[in-house]
Amino acid sequence: MSRDSWEIGGVEVAAGSYEYVKIPVAQMLTGSETGLPLHCVRGAKPGPTLSVLACVHGDEPQPIRAFQNVLARIDRAQLSGALLVVPVANPFAFANFSRQSPDQHEQTNLWGAFPGSAKGTLTQRYAHKIRKILIEGADYLVECHSGGAAGRIQRRVDMDPDIEGAAGEKSREMAIAFASGGAGLVHSVPFSKSSASGYALAQKIPAVSVEIGGAYLPECEENLYRENLEEGFLNLLVHLGMLPGEEKRLRITYFGFANRAEANPSSGGYLISRKTHFADLGAKVSEGELLGEMLDPFSLEVVEELRSPADGVLFFSRCSGPFEVGNKGFAVATEYREI
Ligand SMILES: [Zn+2]
Repeated sequence: MSRDSWEIGGVEVAAGSYEYVKIPVAQMLTGSETGLPLHCVRGAKPGPTLSVLACVHGDEPQPIRAFQNVLARIDRAQLSGALLVVPVANPFAFANFSRQSPDQHEQTNLWGAFPGSAKGTLTQRYAHKIRKILIEGADYLVECHSGGAAGRIQRRVDMDPDIEGAAGEKSREMAIAFASGGAGLVHSVPFSKSSASGYALAQKIPAVSVEIGGAYLPECEENLYRENLEEGFLNLLVHLGMLPGEEKRLRITYFGFANRAEANPSSGGYLISRKTHFADLGAKVSEGELLGEMLDPFSLEVVEELRSPADGVLFFSRCSGPFEVGNKGFAVATEYREI
């Protein structure tokens, strides 16, 4: 897609330039204007537009530092096309370190608020702006999530297997290219039509959803996930022909939504996790292997063991800490193939 205009948020983005703009979204009760932070990186050469979103869920900050590094590393003279990058898509949820925004109404999960509404709740207004500028103005979309609150850690790239035609095939290739940056896992799962990536796919815009990293991790661990994100991002740009170079291709563990099993605690408590390292995700586990224990924080007794329900590959885990009942503990791909 060649855009007719490169004026974004009132700022003209010249070929070969980098502009940071804040797109106005609404005037708040405090009197301050709230906006959408948008980094526009336009290459010197013509090419496609790739939009990238993070912190759609406010407790998932891992991509922020990766974006800082990647955007600093890109040589705009070598870039074909443009990047539209939003590091914090839902600033209100982000400020609360919460999955959802604190609107005094329904529709508080930006993840499921698309296509949005210009006159709706604050969350819907953010969805509307993101749709108009980042989805309808793009050829490709990457939605970046991560682990976050209550110690969640993740490592995979999601793609929707039900999308037919070129958009489906291109999305699958994008997922493999991103996961070849080091994450190494691709999860095939139907996307919600009310998510940004699901909405994009319905418009035949290829899209993937990345789930890499966590929050407040030790620096050595954070850096490993960050490298997965940076290298995945850059490898995707090479794959899409936006940067020169040779595309990296890792051996990918590919698994479907139906081929997964979980180990979840039956009551709230303090989780003592056995799977907290970067290297634990993407690694094989055996049926019955101890993944964690639940400590009753009041009686100080271990009340439950969480064991792998099957042989497989661990792709979702938790760090140790307080853990509420009803949330997911550990997830294992039970049937998978190497591609
Ligand atoms: Zn998320």
